[in-house]
Amino acid sequence: MLPPMSKPLKAGGEVDSGCCKCKLVLNHRIIAMVSGTPVRVECSTCNSHHNFRARAPGEKAPAKAGATTTKAASGTAGPRSTRSTSASKAAKEAADRERSWEKAVSGKAVSEFRNYRVDEMWSEGDLVRHKKFGDGIVTRILDAKKVEILFKDEPRTLAQGLVD
Ligand SMILES: [Zn+2]
Repeated sequence: MLPPMSKPLKAGGEVDSGCCKCKLVLNHRIIAMVSGTPVRVECSTCNSHHNFRARAPGEKAPAKAGATTTKAASGTAGPRSTRSTSASKAAKEAADRERSWEKAVSGKAVSEFRNYRVDEMWSEGDLVRHKKFGDGIVTRILDAKKVEILFKDEPRTLAQGLVD
């Protein structure tokens, strides 16, 4: 049998969680786990500590008929899950990601990177320097408030254009 595709979650690891301050589902660090489910998380964007929530605050559970599997705890299983059918494929994708990350950041001058801040706005292809995650490149603009940034180890969903 093949192992489940999503990475095993553990304290100190990372998970996408709704953040009560950012009002978005963003990358979080897991502080505490109970029976395999994150319960306390730290927001990578605003650093606040709060309970894990699989959805953005105020967002309703999908009420679509036929949506039987909610997969509440695994925010990682997106539309891509149908493609990832084997562990070796996942490993290859990770290697491909790291190669494209290397290609994107190698040989770039320090001045070409902008420090990551939640109130910055980003465009695809922008080079980012993050104080926790290191160098990265903006791979996708998810919406007006969220960008996907590819870091050396993995892509992360981070906030953009946040104003208090
Ligand atoms: Zn936050």
